[in-house]
Formats: sequence, structure tokens, C-alpha cells
Amino acid sequence: MRIVLLGPPGAGKGTQSARLVEKYDIVQLSTGDMLRTAVKAGTPVGLKAKAVMEAGHLVSDETVIGIIADRITDADCANGYILDGFPRTVAQAEALDRLLTESGHKLDAVVELLVDDAAMVSRIVKRRADAVAAGQPVRKDDDTEVFKDRIVKYREETAPVSGYYEQTGRRQTVDGMAPIEEIAAQIDAILLA
Ligand code: AMP
Repeated sequence: MRIVLLGPPGAGKGTQSARLVEKYDIVQLSTGDMLRTAVKAGTPVGLKAKAVMEAGHLVSDETVIGIIADRITDADCANGYILDGFPRTVAQAEALDRLLTESGHKLDAVVELLVDDAAMVSRIVKRRADAVAAGQPVRKDDDTEVFKDRIVKYREETAPVSGYYEQTGRRQTVDGMAPIEEIAAQIDAILLA
């Protein structure tokens, strides 16, 4: 099962991904998580990406496509994966199609979580407050102003990705404002169709 989960920051992609991983015995590939790991480890990729990520901008296509190209050939990806936070540009979506074609695979589903921008800002404010209350470190890019900028960036740069999948007849949408369990049910209905 190979799934692309689309949706703006705060849309609940992480929550749904975690559930799908359990249910279908696949791995979650979050380019955001991979980049954060690289930043922490101080790898060359991490050193390059750190300032870009903290400013809430997109890391270069070349960098993230390279990360995904390496990762999807790992043994634990053989049963499938859910892509969370990738592709974020049309160039990334096209590169993913090329990588899949080369390995004789295809996407089983492209699911987009539809939410409204004001709700996303509320969610990120809550995520930050919860992290502070739990004594957990706060993600630098969860700053409200940076987050608003990420949403603007999402609308500008990432919305065409959903258009790309729509034009190729692969995009399916779910109501990202629904309760978590309802969103899960809608996604399952798509995957089982
Ligand atoms: P996320 O955890 O998915 O919100 O990603 C956190 C940050 O990592 C983003 O704001 C970007 O700076 C970077 N990032 C993650 N995935 C991508 C991607 N596919 N393309 C470009 N930048 C990315």
C-alpha cells in the first residue's frame, strides 16, 4: 500500500499516518521528521536545511527528492509506505511518479485532508500550549507567526500539488474538520474502494 497524504500543516496528517501504519503494516515517511533528525544529527543535509526550516520555508526539491529516493528503496518499505509532507511541490510529485515507475510501483491512493486556515492556526496554538504544559520541547516552526507564514506558503506552493493529482485523476478528499475517527473512516473507505 503506497499512499500520499496531502494537507496543510496542522491538518492532522501525522495522526492519521500513525493509524494507517498500524492498520496496514506500512511505514510512515515524513520528510519533516527526516529533516529534523538530520538537523539534530548535524549531517550535511541537516546543516543546509536548519535555517530554512526554522524560517518556515521549503527545503530544496533536490534535497527532499534525494532523501525520499534513498528511503523508499529500504527493505522496510517493501510492504508500502505513507508519505506525509511529501510531495510539497509539483516537481516533487513528478519526481515521485518517476521513482515509482522506475521501480514498477504505483500509488494506491492520494488523499487530501481539507481544512480551513483559521482552524489550522487554532490547532497549532493548542499543540504549542500542550507541549509547553507537558514540559516537552516546542518545535521552533510552531511559532504562530511562522506557522501563518507556512500556511501562506502552503497555499502558494503546495496547492498545485493537489491540482497535479486531480488532473491525473488520482486525488480524493476527506473532511479534515471532522472528528479524528470520522476522518479515519473516510480514509479507510477510500483505501478499500
Ligand atoms: P513538516 O513537519 O512536514 O511540517 O515539515 C517541517 C519543515 O520541513 C517544513 O516547514 C519544511 O521546511 C521542511 N519540509 C518537510 N517536508 C518538505 C518537503 N517535501 N519539501 C520541502 N520542505 C519540506
